Amino acid sequence: MKVVSERMRSFVVGFVFVLLLLIDCTAMLQTKETFNQQREEMVVQQIAGRDVTDKRVLEAMTKVPRHLFVFPGEERYAYEDRPLPIGHGQTISQPYIVALMTEVARINKEDVVLEIGTGSGYQAAVLSVLASQVYSIEYIEALGREARERLKSLGYNNVEVKIGDGYEGWPEHQPFDAILVTAAIDHIPQRLIDQLKPGGRLVIPLGGELENQVLRVVEKDSRGVISHQDIIPVRFVPFLGEHVKSR
Ligand code: SAH
Repeated sequence: MKVVSERMRSFVVGFVFVLLLLIDCTAMLQTKETFNQQREEMVVQQIAGRDVTDKRVLEAMTKVPRHLFVFPGEERYAYEDRPLPIGHGQTISQPYIVALMTEVARINKEDVVLEIGTGSGYQAAVLSVLASQVYSIEYIEALGREARERLKSLGYNNVEVKIGDGYEGWPEHQPFDAILVTAAIDHIPQRLIDQLKPGGRLVIPLGGELENQVLRVVEKDSRGVISHQDIIPVRFVPFLGEHVKSR
């Protein structure tokens, strides 16, 4: 009798355990589905719904799970039409701005790209879907380390993150087909222009003050002649480092 009731008990415990596991899995699947759906809506409404038309960029934005790049606990805000804090006074840019910068940088499959301002690693992940290799530099050590780990654990194996001052570029890996700067600065660092390939594009939020920045695309043609075009007004966190202060 005792044996039977013990068997019964372990059966009930096992049954409840499996049931809980199933409920948990369903909840996880639902969340993943919800995020996928939110991401598709983000692309349709905020990105294609504005003026980004490059199919490859729209695909990359649909692929990269932005909710895994925000603060834990803030995932539910990840697909809103705005930047979000990522700690240390920094932000992950608004999805539309990430897409727009990627589009105007005209990234090709074979391109080697430099990003200044890794932050969460989100822009680097989007670039890595489109380019052959991405190098990204972050000034704040803790952010750089976290982004490096995050990118690695999510399988973005063609991104290398360095902690340092992006003002210098990354001489060992130059020249770059494209350079994206994701912090605002009141002048264009000459070293970044020097490290652009002929035919290369540099995308940079230009302007010192928060209120008065413009997204500029600088191009170096095949003869090395520089030209530029201003795209839209933007609001980026300021570029950090000695070179900025000492000017
Ligand atoms: N691209 C990021 C958002 C960047 S916010 C993302 O997708 O999440 C701007 C980042 O630029 C911040 O993380 C800031 O620390 C970094 N930054 C500022 N000045 C820098 C410099 N001189 N060199 C490298 N990174 C810098």
